Order: sequence, then structure tokens, then C-alpha cells
Amino acid sequence: MVRSPAIVDGRPSGSKAVRTISLFGATGSIGRSTADVILQHRDSFAVEVVTAQSRVEELAELAAQLGARLAVIGDPAAYESLRDRLAGTGIAVAAGPAAIVEAASRPVDLVMAAIVGAAGLEPTLAAIDAGADIALANKECLVCAGALFNRRAAAARVRILPVDSEHNAIFQSLDAANVAAVERITVTASGGPFRTFSLDEMRRVTPAQALKHPRWSMGPKISIDSATMMNKGLELIEAHHLFGIESERLDVLVHPQSVVHGFVTYADGSMVAQLGAADMRIPISHCLGWPNRVATATPRLDLAELGTLTFEKPDLHRFPALSLARQALEIGDWATNILNAANEVAVEAFLAGRIEFLDIAATVEAVLEQAGKTVGGTEFNAVDTVLALDAEGRRMAAEMIEFRGRRAG
Ligand code: NDP
Ligand code: MG
Repeated sequence: MVRSPAIVDGRPSGSKAVRTISLFGATGSIGRSTADVILQHRDSFAVEVVTAQSRVEELAELAAQLGARLAVIGDPAAYESLRDRLAGTGIAVAAGPAAIVEAASRPVDLVMAAIVGAAGLEPTLAAIDAGADIALANKECLVCAGALFNRRAAAARVRILPVDSEHNAIFQSLDAANVAAVERITVTASGGPFRTFSLDEMRRVTPAQALKHPRWSMGPKISIDSATMMNKGLELIEAHHLFGIESERLDVLVHPQSVVHGFVTYADGSMVAQLGAADMRIPISHCLGWPNRVATATPRLDLAELGTLTFEKPDLHRFPALSLARQALEIGDWATNILNAANEVAVEAFLAGRIEFLDIAATVEAVLEQAGKTVGGTEFNAVDTVLALDAEGRRMAAEMIEFRGRRAG
């Protein structure tokens, strides 16, 4: 049966006058958009923690702007720089990955989980255990540890509010009283910068071309994922875990205008969708204010001016990452964990100019195949197992990339 993620025992979230909020991955694309929404509603939110990995100057600026109580930088070498920049502000500082996890345990109403990659898993689980509701941008959490993540959230009775635009659209379109009547769930995809490229053209694309998304402005990792369409594959896995719906009833539809972000088809034939400008401040504000609405200064759609919306099926031949992700979803959690790890390593290698664009999906495919013979079937009830499997996926991907490099060089 399909579930609505934000409902715990059928009761919606209470709305307090001031919500306390911690912002993990504050200096990123989602982090900055979140800060923007908070700054427009200063009386409604009090910021507890802000974190970043290495951009210390930006973190210090954001901490001061938002009036945070604690700023944490992941890179321990940046501790002194952060401390000096925030001296005299009264904002506490800390550094290192363990300090980020510890900061996630501070009691707040809501945590924005916007760290990129599997690195976001431990802090988000710590926030769940501490009882915070989660605005979840970090889809990799669900891809690398979906069932475990959901068990922890259920045990702590916290709500997971989907930030990802497609999942937020579906969440807005889900009628909590009629989840049993949901027939299908559809996530839309812009198709990315190479939607109309031939395979031959894709072979030669550069990181700069792949980073230039036609509709959304996003961090580098998700931009590359959008170009390979692995992002849509990760989103199928994300939708499976968020809404409790199996692969056969999950669809991807390419919609280049990015106006309809996702929709739910009900048993009576109704299709309920959410539409909006391609601006992440819209789903972010929905999560920050839920169950209320928060006003944003985002562009409004002019449908008459847009005139035409188009939809097409994804081309699985040119975008094999999408099929790989679906296969992994149908195999189980160990496979999605490996898929995610291999993809993170391959994306980094592509951005560093060590492999070509089409090698990203090829690497993921080869790692999945090899992992099937070694770690296939691994089950995990503990974070340690998740992280060990993730490390193994990364190791295999790195080895394969090096092997390909040596063969080519
Ligand atoms: P960015 O790369 O722009 O930002 C990532 C943030 O995480 C930065 O604050 C970065 O710090 C921090 N960070 C990076 N590595 C680590 C680490 N190892 N430990 C702790 N913190 C780390 O990413 P986005 O904002 O684009 O994406 C964030 C998440 O949201 C991703 O999971 C993405 O898939 C998801 N998402 C993003 C969307 C978007 O529009 N951008 C849309 C939907 C989902 P620093 O700045 O110091 O490097
Ligand atoms: Mg998305």
C-alpha cells in the first residue's frame, strides 16, 4: 500500500509560532535556497546549526546572517579559520565529521538534510534519533540505506518531508485519505542537457557542458546525475522508499519544460499533479512550513505564455543509468547501495577529467555486476554494514576506473 510520508499515526505536524531548524549542507545549492526562504521569514524560524564541508568563508557568512547558534565545518583543518571568522559573534564553532553528526543530535523541530552524497546518511540518522522532523533533500540517504532509514524514522516517530521537487510534487498530490486508491506514481524529468544528443555526440561531451542544466541551477553532483539521468533513477528508488510503492507502479516521464513536477494516478482515472516554476525554493518552503504554506518570492508560472507542455518516454538506450537504477531497485538494498557508491566515484572521476561521460554508467554497470558475485545479497540492520558496503562499492569503482585509465593510456 502507498503511504504518505509525513503522516505519523494520521496526525499532521503541529504548527508552532517559531520553528527551530538546523541546516546541514548550508553552503550548497539547496542550503542557500533554504537560507533565502528563512531570511524572508525571520520571525518564523530560529536557526540552531549550519554546516559545510570546506567552504569556510561562506559558512561563516551564512551563520552570521542566519543568527545560528553553532557552525560546523567538516574539514578539521578549517577549524581555526572558522573560529577566527566568527570570533565575537557568540556563535559556537566545531569541526570534523563527528562534530557534524553530534550537531545533528541537537534538539530542533526540523532538520534540512542537504549534504550531498552518502556522507549525509549519518548526520540525518542522528537527527532522526534525536526526534527532529526531516526535510530530505539528500536522496542518496534513501538510495544507500532505504529500509534502515525508514525503520529508524518510524521508530523515532519523525516525519520525512520530501524536498526533491518531484517527490514534493507527489507528496502534495497524495490524498492521505485515499492512499489505498493510488494506482501509479510518476516522476517527471527534464531530460537534462543531452536529451536530444546522439550516443556519438554524448561520447564527446565535457564536464562544463554536462554541468549546464537547461532548467535547474544545482550543485555539481546532481547536475551530472541529471545529464546521465542517473538522477531520475535515484529518484525512482527515493520514491519507492518515501511512498512505499513498488517499481512496477513507478513511472518516469520526460517533460522538458519542467512545469509539472510529478503526479499521482488514482483508481478512478484522476491524475493529480503539482505545477510550479523550476525553483527549489518552492518545495523547500513547502517543507519548512508544512502543514501550512509559506509565501515565497519565486517566479509564478504564466501558463498562457508557456502555451505548450510536452511529454515523452525516456530513451533507455541513450540513458542506460535509468535502467541500471531500476534494476538495482528491483534487486534490493545492497544493489542500490552499490549503485550509489559507484556512481558517486564515477561522477567525481568524470568531473576530474579521468573518464568520459559514457563511462559513468558503464562503470556503475560493471561494478554492479562484479558486486553481485561478491557482496550480492548482503543485508543490513546497522549503519556500519551500510558504510562498509558503500566503501566496497567505492573501492571497486575506483579500481575499475584506474584499470580503464591504464588500458586507455
Ligand atoms: P551542493 O554540492 O551544492 O552542496 C552540498 C553541500 O554539502 C555543501 O554545503 C557542502 O559543503 C556539503 N558537503 C559536501 N560534502 C560533504 C561531506 N563529505 N560532509 C559534509 N558535508 C558535505 O549540492 P546540492 O545542494 O545541489 O545537493 C544537496 C543534496 O540535495 C543532494 O543529495 C542532491 O541530490 C539533493 N537535491 C538537490 C537539488 C538541487 O536543486 N540542487 C534538487 C533535489 C535534490 P561545501 O560547500 O563546503 O563543499
Ligand atoms: Mg529531483
